[in-house]
Amino acid sequence: DPPVLQPLALPQGLFESHSLSLCEAQAEGVAHTDLLPSTSAPQDHEKQYVGFATLPNQVHRKSVKKGFDFTLMVAGESGLGKSTLVNSLFLTDLYKDRKLLNAEERINQTVEIIKHTVDIEEKGVKLKLTIVDTPGFGDAVNNTECWKPITDYIDQQFEQYFRDESGLNRKNIQDNRVHCCLYFISPFGHGLRPVDVEFMKALHEKVNIVPLIAKADCLIPSEIRKLKERIREEIDKFGIKVYQFPECDSDEDEEFKQQDRELKESAPFAVIGSNTVVEAKGQRVRGRLYPWGIVEVENQAHCDFVKLRNMLIRTHMHDLKDVTCDVHYENYRAQCIQQMT
Ligand code: GDP
Repeated sequence: DPPVLQPLALPQGLFESHSLSLCEAQAEGVAHTDLLPSTSAPQDHEKQYVGFATLPNQVHRKSVKKGFDFTLMVAGESGLGKSTLVNSLFLTDLYKDRKLLNAEERINQTVEIIKHTVDIEEKGVKLKLTIVDTPGFGDAVNNTECWKPITDYIDQQFEQYFRDESGLNRKNIQDNRVHCCLYFISPFGHGLRPVDVEFMKALHEKVNIVPLIAKADCLIPSEIRKLKERIREEIDKFGIKVYQFPECDSDEDEEFKQQDRELKESAPFAVIGSNTVVEAKGQRVRGRLYPWGIVEVENQAHCDFVKLRNMLIRTHMHDLKDVTCDVHYENYRAQCIQQMT
């Protein structure tokens, strides 16, 4: 560890004589700490440290102690494998007491929003994961404005946060804002359906939308490529703003840059989910067993599941939260303040 500077016990008058050099240092962009009066002998030219090099450690320790939270919304037609994918992503069974509706019940079904929360711990790091499920979306006979309850839900969370932030106890705000919405697109169509376009357009200014091609094992590789291309074109054509992966820093190493490129090229991710573990080539893997073979969820040659999981958890969780906070919530907040004045 760098030596920590002792509390400054400055001799009378010393500070004034140094204040000039501190200003000069600022103008020239020199680190102040090099110029702070040394407490040791004047001939000691060793660089002095105040100790702020430990700041990352302090932040790290505090965050680990507090734990992390992340709120993920899943949306799309019922039966596209949303719950199966969420279970595969977080290796938990979030849907133990799910009640499936029959066709008659679904005719007039309004979109009902259900929240599941689990605390996951890995190597001492705690993650409070909230899944916001929107069952029945697009199920009813009349799907006009079926996205309304979902946009209302997102707005309500912003409103609650805005209120808490302006309240007395803003230190312990429970943040329920939705950080990401996984939107499931059917693999059986020829691109986006009108309801997909409407849904994404209604939500794109409020939440980070990550579109997914569901049940990708129903398509062969060339069909997946075509469908991805088609969806990308339509997203452009209809002016839909899905979540944009941030630019990769130029000083990152080549391997990281390559991964980042692949990630961007693979969107929209084609995913497969499974609640069962099967044996493939002597190994137990999460997969789907067909009479003609096994589809492995975590095999990159079979689908983009691993890319999606890495993006959500390992590489972009923080960015998704930042964009929610700095862009989507800021927009909401600005509108609120404008209406008040
Ligand atoms: P949800 O209504 O969108 O939550 O869909 P479910 O997760 O309940 O899945 C509906 C059905 O699709 C179930 O029978 C699943 O086993 C099946 N399923 C889920 N994921 C996949 C997948 O990736 N590929 C295929 N072929 N079937 C899947």
